[in-house]
Amino acid sequence: MRTPLVAGNWKMNKTTAEARELVATILAPLGGIAGVEKVLCPPSTSLPVIAPMLTGADIGLGAQNMHWEEKGAFTGELAPSMVKEFCGYVIIGHSERRAYFGETDEHVNKKLRAAMKAGLTPIVCVGETLDEYESGRTGEVVSRQIKLGFASVDSASASRIVIAYEPVWAIGTGKASSGENANGVVRQVIRRALSEVFNENAAQSMRVLYGGSVTGSNAAEFFSQPEIDGALVGGASLKADEFVAIAKAASRP
Ligand code: PEP
Repeated sequence: MRTPLVAGNWKMNKTTAEARELVATILAPLGGIAGVEKVLCPPSTSLPVIAPMLTGADIGLGAQNMHWEEKGAFTGELAPSMVKEFCGYVIIGHSERRAYFGETDEHVNKKLRAAMKAGLTPIVCVGETLDEYESGRTGEVVSRQIKLGFASVDSASASRIVIAYEPVWAIGTGKASSGENANGVVRQVIRRALSEVFNENAAQSMRVLYGGSVTGSNAAEFFSQPEIDGALVGGASLKADEFVAIAKAASRP
């Protein structure tokens, strides 16, 4: 049994005052939903503000990125231990990091291994671009992202890792994948690659989320798919009622 997980990626939105306001609104309705792990990933400036608000609320906190080194001359970056001060989770390899900040599968691998060492729950994003999708290369691309990104990770702790399948063409576009298509990629590509990197047991134990234009209205279509264990939500996580509706749809009490 894989516990569903719904994570909200706020991206570069909300000042600390706005973040506090959103958390105050969402705290009771979101915290009260059983049978699903809920996680908020605000900008890093809001982590120390939100962390105390979530004490005892059954809502986790995550960072949107981190560096793999413990400390040093890496201007603008956060070390795993700094993230761990406030968070239990960290998003790694989001397509926006890959597209705009030059993150490669090798960087993802270093970050993933550092997150595991720090005791964080990594949410590792994979997914093909529109061009790759249209040219029928989804399997090849996503499989490569997993094989390179997950290399040299201990299979005994693999079940802690969460994967987010996020077709890049579906992120922020309002054009979500169909549930059936996403389920097929998770079953035929992602779990197959995971079982090659780790083993079949590990592959079946790891949670795989769908991400890409998930809303309160289409969430149930994804969560009714047997291979999809929750969602990584961007835009809709900035609206309290939408994110609560998504978490409710994912709940398996
Ligand atoms: C995301 O940022 O990971 C994402 C899926 O965004 P959106 O839900 O806005 O498509």
